[in-house]
Amino acid sequence: MSAPGEPGGAGAGPGAAAEAGAGAGAAVAADAGAVVLRASVLGALRHGFSTRLGGVSVGRYASLNLSAGWGDEADAVAENRRRLAAAIGYAPERLCTVKQVHGTDVVDAEAPPELPTDDDGRPQADAVLTVARGRALGVYTADCVPVLLAHPRSGAVCAVHAGWRGAAAGIVTRAALTLAARAGAAPGELVAALGPSIGPCCFEVGREVVAAFAQRHGEVLERPGKPGSAGNPRLDLWRAVALDLERAGLAARSIGAAGDAAVPPCTMCEPARFFSYRRDGRAIGQQLSVIVSPD
Ligand SMILES: [Zn+2]
Repeated sequence: MSAPGEPGGAGAGPGAAAEAGAGAGAAVAADAGAVVLRASVLGALRHGFSTRLGGVSVGRYASLNLSAGWGDEADAVAENRRRLAAAIGYAPERLCTVKQVHGTDVVDAEAPPELPTDDDGRPQADAVLTVARGRALGVYTADCVPVLLAHPRSGAVCAVHAGWRGAAAGIVTRAALTLAARAGAAPGELVAALGPSIGPCCFEVGREVVAAFAQRHGEVLERPGKPGSAGNPRLDLWRAVALDLERAGLAARSIGAAGDAAVPPCTMCEPARFFSYRRDGRAIGQQLSVIVSPD
């Protein structure tokens, strides 16, 4: 990835966003609103990667939990979703999400579901795209990699959920190629940003997973553990996702990261800023990453 810019910097965007700038992770006033990270590679398109800061949930869900699925109070989640929508700049009812299943299906937000749906009518898929106007697309994560994709010229956008299973099966490449085809664009015209997720510093996996990624990419994606650590190898899923985007045809310079550092923040390393399933287990909050097509 090449993502010039200031670490922790935040791009311009509408809404009352409390920007997570350099030094984010410090206490944020309760009335500051949802704290989101942005990626300048996405330009003027409204978007945001949520942190856990600036919401109303308490305990293990404190405070900006966007997920209704892991046991938090419904009223708190609804308020948090309103805050995120205000920070990014979309009407909450325009948000489209999918039932994420670690697969490779990509759905069009405007198309009637052809895939199995959950109780809320959401199709089972791990990427959702649109070429329609004024639509917000989101994916939930708490360690997996959220990827926001866009074709800036047409305004077509896509949100992707990439854990190691989905990434190994090709969800990232497939989402990029599908978006390009629907937008009538060359894949090289797309831009993409990776959001907060578990980094190679923390992501222990089995030896067979490392081998599968090495075979897929022709490059060793195993990284050394922290000093004093033992056990399983660590996988650089960020690099794997970037390689998949490049494989689809994106230029390396068109691939950025939330916060505009060279790589996104690691969810497991930063308990003050992010929920992490690997760190805290189930019954925690989840981040929500959203991109909005132009009106
Ligand atoms: Zn880490």
